[in-house]
Amino acid sequence: MSLFDSLRDLLPGASRPKRRAPVATKPKPLLPPPEAITIDHAGVPLIVMFERSAKARRVSLRVDQRNGRVRLVAPPRMARETALGFAHAQAAWIHGRTLRQSPPVPFTDGAVIPLFGAPHVVRHRPDRRGTVWLEDGALHVAGRAEHLPRRLHDWLANELRARVSTLAHAKAATIDRKVTRITVRDTATQWGSCARAGGLSFSTRLAFAPPEIVDYVVAHEVAHLAHANHGPQFWALTAKLMDGDVAACRAWLRRNGERLMRLG
Ligand SMILES: [Zn+2]
Repeated sequence: MSLFDSLRDLLPGASRPKRRAPVATKPKPLLPPPEAITIDHAGVPLIVMFERSAKARRVSLRVDQRNGRVRLVAPPRMARETALGFAHAQAAWIHGRTLRQSPPVPFTDGAVIPLFGAPHVVRHRPDRRGTVWLEDGALHVAGRAEHLPRRLHDWLANELRARVSTLAHAKAATIDRKVTRITVRDTATQWGSCARAGGLSFSTRLAFAPPEIVDYVVAHEVAHLAHANHGPQFWALTAKLMDGDVAACRAWLRRNGERLMRLG
């Protein structure tokens, strides 16, 4: 109590200032928006939405019944590592739930899609000009809702084309071959192909795969410029043209290929 307060109490007719209940004035903690995180489960990336909730007393995993998405809900002040550690420990359970649901993921507002392996939330921005842009780890799409899937597909195809073009020309130059043409299209059956005349074709769905997988598929097709088969020399050249491990990349595509086909 301050001296001023004490004096006021002594004055006739003085009343103590009313104090508001501290609960009413306490500001609510500002919670960050949900964040898409990836949990690795024996090589299979699982996508979980990490959310903070003022009501949560402990960390928990919940399944969103509407879209089958797994949510990791933590109290506002819990350390991020503690919450993520919980999800990592429950990876097998998350995987089981994901398999059971395995819903297709259409391109709509709120959908989570991996862009070169990193999960991104799709945000529809009907009020904004432009087409598609990256902002705060999310994929923002302007325009009318019915055009969102096509706009996003076109944008992903362009991103992939830019990436594979750079990689393919650089790799081909190291073996003194020329890439005459690069095509990107939505092929459901193969990740890439190589034509005799030096034209390479890639599936747009590689835009969902991690960079090392894209690198492998490009190395594979460029190696076909020298060897039109899958013999030992072809595989040796593929390995030389890439940074990662051939067997690991092929295994990744076997495990995850179907999942990439269900997006969009
Ligand atoms: Zn091949």
